[in-house]
Amino acid sequence: MNDADWVRDVGLPAAYIPMMNRPRPSGNRVRVVLLTQVIGPLDYRLPAGMAAEPGSIVIVPLGPRKLMGVVWDDGAFGDEAIEEHRLRNVLELVDIPPIAAGLRRLVDWVADYYLASHASVLRMVISPSAAMTAAGTITEYKPSGFEPARMTPQRAVALDALVDTQGLVRELAAEAGVSDAIIRGLIKVGALEPVQVSIDAPFASPDPQHHLPKLSDAQESAAAAMRSAVSAAAFEPIVLDGVTGSGKTETYFEAVAEVLKFGRQVLVLLPEISLTQPFLKRFAARFGVEPATWHSGMKQSQRRRVWRGVAEGRVRVVAGARSALFLPFANPGLIVVDEAHEVSFKQEDGVRYHARDVAVMRGKFEGFPVVLASATPALESRHMVSIGRYKGLEIPSRFGTAKLPKIEAIDLTKDQPERQNWIAPPLLAAIEERLERAEQSLLFLNRRGYAPLTLCRHCGHRFQCPNCTAWMVEHRLVRRLACHHCGHVMPPPDTCPECNAEDALVPCGPGVERISEEVKKFFPDARTFVATSDTLWSPDKAAEFVAMVEANAIDIIIGTQLVTKGYHFPNLTLVGVIDADLGLEGGDLRAAERTFQQIAQAAGRAGRAEKPGHVFIQTRNPDHPVIAALVAGDRDAFYDAETAQRQSAGAPPFGRYAAIIISSEDEREAIEAARAVGASAPKAEGMYVYGPAPAPLSMLRGRHRQRLLVHAQRSVELQSIMREWLGGLNFPRGVRVGVDVDPYSFL
Ligand code: ADP
Ligand code: ZN
Repeated sequence: MNDADWVRDVGLPAAYIPMMNRPRPSGNRVRVVLLTQVIGPLDYRLPAGMAAEPGSIVIVPLGPRKLMGVVWDDGAFGDEAIEEHRLRNVLELVDIPPIAAGLRRLVDWVADYYLASHASVLRMVISPSAAMTAAGTITEYKPSGFEPARMTPQRAVALDALVDTQGLVRELAAEAGVSDAIIRGLIKVGALEPVQVSIDAPFASPDPQHHLPKLSDAQESAAAAMRSAVSAAAFEPIVLDGVTGSGKTETYFEAVAEVLKFGRQVLVLLPEISLTQPFLKRFAARFGVEPATWHSGMKQSQRRRVWRGVAEGRVRVVAGARSALFLPFANPGLIVVDEAHEVSFKQEDGVRYHARDVAVMRGKFEGFPVVLASATPALESRHMVSIGRYKGLEIPSRFGTAKLPKIEAIDLTKDQPERQNWIAPPLLAAIEERLERAEQSLLFLNRRGYAPLTLCRHCGHRFQCPNCTAWMVEHRLVRRLACHHCGHVMPPPDTCPECNAEDALVPCGPGVERISEEVKKFFPDARTFVATSDTLWSPDKAAEFVAMVEANAIDIIIGTQLVTKGYHFPNLTLVGVIDADLGLEGGDLRAAERTFQQIAQAAGRAGRAEKPGHVFIQTRNPDHPVIAALVAGDRDAFYDAETAQRQSAGAPPFGRYAAIIISSEDEREAIEAARAVGASAPKAEGMYVYGPAPAPLSMLRGRHRQRLLVHAQRSVELQSIMREWLGGLNFPRGVRVGVDVDPYSFL
């Protein structure tokens, strides 16, 4: 397929095609995209003796300020030429490797496709802070052992918390839970001392021959196809579709090994930071050393070391969160998106991009294969395989003697749990059997906390977040009511704030904590663990949890979607889905698909080794197509029916959506701005604009929200139309207008 077809396929304006092969700039005039300003690019003059090429990182003047920017390609977005004599000089060339052409094209594409500014996309590539300057060391601080003469309670707290830690002022403050000023004070009196940390410390090289696995035939044929894609060193998107427990990781490791032999670099994207630790261990078992990692929880010194190592080609393999996608790989040879169907790959704030799709585009621009691995591929990915755009590889059975689990529905209208209980008798019996056999069980409910809603039994008052259209969720373990949207917390009051009744507050419905309470009531001796983002919030916490499960120190896991993915627990033989109907309520575009994937993934945790697995799905609608397909083990039937439905609705992947979210602290202002957007909607064939209407989450973090939804046929040049439409409007200062192309959230 030629570039033009591809560009159109991925929804880029045709005007983009010539940009793909743009000539290099000439003379001493350069275009610079600034990292912190949503203007430009601006032209500057290169002073004599300074050699900057496209991609070079430079410091330039803007008014009285000095700002970081990247030299962009000649002719970048428009040609409004400033006269030669008015050009100001580039001040400095930063001594780090230039951003390569392929990555610059990716930045162009992301900015174009997701209607974002180049500055905001580039900031995901380069952090504008001093972090990226050339210095080979960074100064961190650590306890010196010296007791300050004046020991305040806060100082004592900080020094207590910082034993064996070091980091920047901000990092230490966050770690100790004190203000920056306390840390600075401790530095001043010498209780914390500076340490120089090298950011050029070498990285260990993974060894492709370290431990060679014996692959099954199905694994070997998928591995062979991926190896040859890697050695072809050309763009090829591949969907690695293998049932849960089929050994997808072992199989794509063979592609990783092949890349290492060629001396190129690999990125493995993981959907969840809590999956990092088990992944690192498996990687080390195969390749002898752990890969570098990249995620939001890293210290500045680690970030700099990995960023530089990646840019200079010294880091061979990175495992990371979606933000790793924008690392400046010197010589990339492969991206693997593991659990590629995961919705967490979609970024919901800032630049709203989908990491799976951006990964594919990066492979396209830089010429290497991209593997999307999943047991439940996204409908979009399956569609691309069926029309021949992506290669499909399958591993149809579990590795070794393991069999797929038996799946059964429990009809809650017939097998009712006791009043104010949520586990039906057949599931209770199954748990009991597991306890007797010393096997493990997992109960899945995608709701954090104790109860999703609290109300007053006297007056009916419901606790709502003051900043959001959302109920306050009770978290009994930490004795708090919390908003899951903005993080607002309050202690549960003793009396109703509305009618002053005492002891009248009642929890409504279950969260995982409440299920755990129920489990303890029925099985007081069982060892339980509530696994959610509240308990597994760091790689270390997740690693502890995994170790406990592996050591059989936990009998029953009660968890959210966080524990349904990736994990391999050989002694876990029972999975109970507490409320399969939950995800089907509210019914957005992907509700059925997402529920199917979630339950199939949860079910996939059962019986992964010698012992057979059993899955119970509690539902009020056993005949719902999603539940019926899961019970029948008929994945294809479900996907086919769902695909047909999407096609007839013109929904993705057959048509496209873009959401426009307008918000303001002032409700009237939000409504008026949204009306103005609606009223100026252009008429284009094959494009429909719905709304504005108040968003389902009509208030979020104190801002009133209105939404419009644009629905377009694939032939419509949606981005150009929207850019022109929204670019032509002016909004009051308090109004924010966000665009979400290919939205996953409709709230
Ligand atoms: P998936 O990601 O497809 O659900 P995993 O990659 O977690 O499956 O594999 C399931 C289990 O089988 C893991 O413990 C893995 O180490 C093991 N396994 C898979 N393939 C092999 C192999 N070829 N040799 C040895 N162990 C394997
Ligand atoms: Zn809130």
